[in-house]
Amino acid sequence: MSTGSIVIAIGGNAILNPAMGNPDEQRRMIDKTCLEIAQIIQRGYDVVLTHGNGPQIGNILAMQEECGSVQAQPLDVCGAQTQGMLGYLLKQSLDNRLRESGINRQVAAVLTQVVVDESDPSFDTPTKPIGLYYSKYRAQKMMEQGIKMIQDKKGYRRVVPSPVPEKIIEEDIIKDLIREGIIVIAAGGGGIPVIQKNGLLAGIEAVIDKDLTGSLMASVIGAEAFLILTDVEKVALNYGKDNQIDLDEITTSEAQRYVEEGHFGKGSMEPKVLSAIRFIRSGGKIAIISNLDKAVPAIECRAGTRIIP
Ligand code: ADP
Ligand code: MG
Repeated sequence: MSTGSIVIAIGGNAILNPAMGNPDEQRRMIDKTCLEIAQIIQRGYDVVLTHGNGPQIGNILAMQEECGSVQAQPLDVCGAQTQGMLGYLLKQSLDNRLRESGINRQVAAVLTQVVVDESDPSFDTPTKPIGLYYSKYRAQKMMEQGIKMIQDKKGYRRVVPSPVPEKIIEEDIIKDLIREGIIVIAAGGGGIPVIQKNGLLAGIEAVIDKDLTGSLMASVIGAEAFLILTDVEKVALNYGKDNQIDLDEITTSEAQRYVEEGHFGKGSMEPKVLSAIRFIRSGGKIAIISNLDKAVPAIECRAGTRIIP
């Protein structure tokens, strides 16, 4: 792979165990990740880093629900909070790792708004589960307040719309920063969801899939590669079964066929594979899905699953 710009998407689950929410653990995971990213920067890549926020936004919602005396903030504002929190932690850690490695590059975290379509079907039927699990009693109370909930094996969870990302508002700023040689952290948590009416922006309650926004980012900046880092090393067929097959390299049409055959988890691996396909179909050369601690071998084609034209 030749150097150039690369969009790296890291999973929210990979940086914070939602069951514990331990801030020290979160810092440790971020330091580990930023060490890998610093090594990629050292190889000459212009990195745009994006991150998930599932567990982090879940914790903010849980704190709001516990605190009856303070009014809850809407989801777009909670999303912005996670961009600030993770943007800060990632920037500080990356600054430190770059300094330790003697690399003279600056890092900027950009609050990023992403436009969605108000008539996206997901606003009528919210499907993305977020936050904690609740008892039937608690869920009923929440549903009475107009909060949409679904039930699965582990209990009740809040569900929110997850519309398709259409446009990154800060796109030009991000491109300018890249041209200046600045490492950019942007579009965290899939971006702050906004709608655009008569040229004016307004926040809307939704959570955009971070892998889809990462794919859009990679396309609009004309990235050389799109790297999705998560907590498994490879994309697999028959995942978790006796006949599991780990994939090294697949074409977009093979990937599409495996999606249709239902090989990938709906809210987990499937959006990653679809995001990789989108990037390649809009002109990208290579997308790679790999483990958080295998970022360097992944870009050297020694780890992960590569999706190619
Ligand atoms: P992230 O926070 O990085 O977005 P997710 O939990 O959303 O992480 O997605 C990664 C998870 O996808 C893995 O931990 C794995 O359990 C799951 N997964 C579902 N289907 C597959 C598959 N076919 N191959 C590999 N992993 C899969
Ligand atoms: Mg995910």
